[in-house]
Amino acid sequence: MSSILVAEDLSAVGGISLSAAVPVLTALQYDVAALPTSLLSTHTSGYGRPAVVDLADWLPRVFQHWTQAQLNFDAALIGYVGSVELCQQLTTYLTEQPLALLVVDPVLGDLGELYSGFDQHYVEAMRQLIRHADVILPNVTEASLLTGRPYTSQPDLAATLRALATLMGPKGHAVITDAVQDDQIGCAWLDETGQVAFVGQPRLPGHYNGTGDVLAAVIAGLLGRGFSLTRSLELASQWLNLAVAETLAQHRSDPRQGIALGALLRAILTVD
Ligand code: ATP
Ligand code: MG
Repeated sequence: MSSILVAEDLSAVGGISLSAAVPVLTALQYDVAALPTSLLSTHTSGYGRPAVVDLADWLPRVFQHWTQAQLNFDAALIGYVGSVELCQQLTTYLTEQPLALLVVDPVLGDLGELYSGFDQHYVEAMRQLIRHADVILPNVTEASLLTGRPYTSQPDLAATLRALATLMGPKGHAVITDAVQDDQIGCAWLDETGQVAFVGQPRLPGHYNGTGDVLAAVIAGLLGRGFSLTRSLELASQWLNLAVAETLAQHRSDPRQGIALGALLRAILTVD
């Protein structure tokens, strides 16, 4: 068993972020260290204002304890962090760890806008974190915010990916997670020859909470298991399509709930 640290918000209701990442990574056969970066009564889409606990006082104590207890992780996945202070705390801790893999989903915004509560200082703190990452998983908005390139929903992927690469170490890979080609949605990255590669699946109707979080957990989990970047992204894209299709088929009464995970978990358990 490998161990993976997953750090992101824990929203009690809504089935996204940490609540979704833990079952995915458990199915991928990891010992999971689930570190909430903040606690929310619900996620932030559609329930009104959640009750939030900021964990900036707790995180340094966690890291101190883990260091004392000589706990190390093979891999780490970082999702929603939430404040400059937390981002810096995480960056410091992670750079002191002998991680074989660091995957960062630089959660900053969507549809061309920063999420509420974030500003340019936060974007800069995220730039510092991704310097140390092996793989980053921005959506189109986050790619624009990180690189400073103007937002458009369908940017020049080659130029954007090259600009992202300059923000990372020499072995880092940037993957844009909501790239659109024809009627497909999927992942775009630069292959070994510097050309844009794309894997996608048909875009299904609707918008769903938590797709990005589940995608990141699948990709980090597969990479940590030794799958190539290309194979990891192919499988992740197929499985996300399966999950969105299952969600649609359930005709859910509450559209705020994150995507269905049953079919995806079954697919994970049959992979080798
Ligand atoms: P989030 O808003 O959750 O952070 P994101 O902006 O990072 O997500 P998404 O747009 O959710 O990224 O896309 C992540 C992946 O989810 C896509 O690559 C795709 O595999 C899948 N996906 C998202 N929406 C759909 C859809 N409507 N139909 C099919 N697949 C989808
Ligand atoms: Mg995202």
